[in-house]
Amino acid sequence: MKFLQGPWLRWAVLLFFLFFSLAGRTAARELPAQEEAALFSLADLGPVDFSPKTLQVEIFISHHPDLYPCRLMLPGVWPRVQDFYRQMGVVLEKSEGLPEPGPLAPGSYLRVELLTHKEWLARSFKAFDVQPPFRLRFLQVCRDKCAFAHLPLSVVHVSFKKFQEMEFSVKPGDEPLNQKWLANLLIHELGHLMGLYHADEFVNDPIPEFLPDGKTADFMSQQIASRTDLGWVEFQKRLIHSYLGHGKVYQQYFQVNFDPLNYLKLIKRYNGYREPGPSPKAGMKKLRKKGSPKTYDDDDSNDDDD
Ligand SMILES: [Zn+2]
Repeated sequence: MKFLQGPWLRWAVLLFFLFFSLAGRTAARELPAQEEAALFSLADLGPVDFSPKTLQVEIFISHHPDLYPCRLMLPGVWPRVQDFYRQMGVVLEKSEGLPEPGPLAPGSYLRVELLTHKEWLARSFKAFDVQPPFRLRFLQVCRDKCAFAHLPLSVVHVSFKKFQEMEFSVKPGDEPLNQKWLANLLIHELGHLMGLYHADEFVNDPIPEFLPDGKTADFMSQQIASRTDLGWVEFQKRLIHSYLGHGKVYQQYFQVNFDPLNYLKLIKRYNGYREPGPSPKAGMKKLRKKGSPKTYDDDDSNDDDD
């Protein structure tokens, strides 16, 4: 009997891997143009389940002494993040992150890492799979950034040090303001992990940079250091619930293997969305060279394709 167990076990293992490789292949089945157009149309999201959704979020704070202030301020930061999402029907449950991530999954188990700048760069290189010859170039891209949200990995990496340098007020008594700004950054980055793109991505989509009152910045805009609370529009709530409830938006992301760049390309194509500026890419580059507008993270526009 004993010698039969070896081959049987090997077969079981082989079938197991065969099953998963086939299952993986169905994830990005190419769609006929008409089906693709219907899937990526945002005009009709179909039935959206608005029941409250619960997300688990691991928070990992680097053990480096530079992150001590971050550890101290987090109790004043996290409840703001929770309050924001509670208004949208999303309940965030925090757990203490270990140095290595637990089992993560898009739209259900997420992780936020608050890091030194060096740690942030190292983890960003790894997450974007930037090989050594391209790292210098990547450093240039990172110059004015302090966070990246990786949708396929369900992780947000934040350079707390960089954000502190970029935004924090050193005036005595401004601690609550700094807490608010860090909360805004986390609110924004978690928005990416719920499938949202930037408010300034398109000029003719239903997501404005400022709400109709003219002063409340949308949470997916670049106005994170806003003294007034961030806001959101109903359309974003629908997108989030459709994503978290495994509705149409989740199917869209599933179709592109959770790649945000591909996702943007397809929703642009099938919704007639336009990027800002007469020549979008040249326009964006010109603005960036002047040092404005300020960006905190990857703006999802493919700016390293030349
Ligand atoms: Zn962003």
